[in-house]
Amino acid sequence: MLTQKNAPARHPLGFFPTPVMPLNRLTKRMNGPRILMKRDDQTGLASGGNKTRKLEFLIGEALATGCDTLVTGGAAQSNHCRQTVAAAACCGLRCHLALGGEPPTTADGNLLLDNMLGAHIHWTGKFRKGEKIPDIVNELEKQGHRPYVIPYGGSNPRGALGFVDGVAELIEQLRADDISIDAIVFASSSGGTHAGLMVGKEIAAANFELIGIAIDKEEAGTGKKTLAEHIAEIATGTAELLHFPTTFTAADVTLFDNYTGKGYGMVGKLEKNALRLIAKTEGILLDPVYTGRAMGGLLNLIDQGKFSAGETVLFWHTGGLPALFSYAQELQ
Ligand SMILES: *Cc1c(COP(=O)(O)O)cnc(C)c1O
Repeated sequence: MLTQKNAPARHPLGFFPTPVMPLNRLTKRMNGPRILMKRDDQTGLASGGNKTRKLEFLIGEALATGCDTLVTGGAAQSNHCRQTVAAAACCGLRCHLALGGEPPTTADGNLLLDNMLGAHIHWTGKFRKGEKIPDIVNELEKQGHRPYVIPYGGSNPRGALGFVDGVAELIEQLRADDISIDAIVFASSSGGTHAGLMVGKEIAAANFELIGIAIDKEEAGTGKKTLAEHIAEIATGTAELLHFPTTFTAADVTLFDNYTGKGYGMVGKLEKNALRLIAKTEGILLDPVYTGRAMGGLLNLIDQGKFSAGETVLFWHTGGLPALFSYAQELQ
């Protein structure tokens, strides 16, 4: 865990530690490495997900600095936005969301929950990565509010602290059960999860491989950076916050970007097969945008012989359940 001396402000929001479980039936079926799953779909905050870990540190700072309103953004079905509104509700903060697209006739999935949890929604057309957050902040400040900005995906050095802590949590669990793992596979999109895992691994001097499955075709952020460069930059910032003297470059980032299919949020065969297989063999639900794609990538890597039968691979389930219900048609 993060040491007392270095401890940045943190506000408890989730249920931790999340369980680690063996997927015995899937392991048998794949005839490959032993497969474990870290259940961050069980973190709380109105049906769970990886953003809860980041939000504990982001909201820790928001509260410590006397802010009264959270502002963030994402796609219409953003899990990050839903978890942020839930966190705002239980902390007594207001929450404004910049959501990509136009208001739909029926608000389902995460959007249904955003409304229920009390979000103030601003529809931002083609901008689905929080590009309009500064305009909203300006408006709120004029009205006398004290906004706290949480970037797209909660992915900045402070948010990534959640996954530094997540690695420490995992290592403690594995140690208690005398398990060693060879790799962690997870969905990588806005960069904060990946960056936090890298810093956590470095601090623990662990030697498992970190394998991110890229979800998004486009480059990260608003600049011309690649996702790997963006992740390395966040990781360097996170290490700095912890006074841990390490810098990271894109070469330190392992990212498979060959599973992005038709692009962000587009469900193809890869995702459908992974969703069905995990549901039917393990009774576990993945989501169509992130974990379905990442699991599809893992299954493909196993088929290609990336891991030997004697190895152990941990899939980090990052949540996303509510999005499933807005994909009813595509998944039929
Ligand atoms: C946001 C999200 C991710 C990706 O995490 P990043 O930190 O943005 O890379 C993965 N899975 C789910 C379900 C998510 O909502």
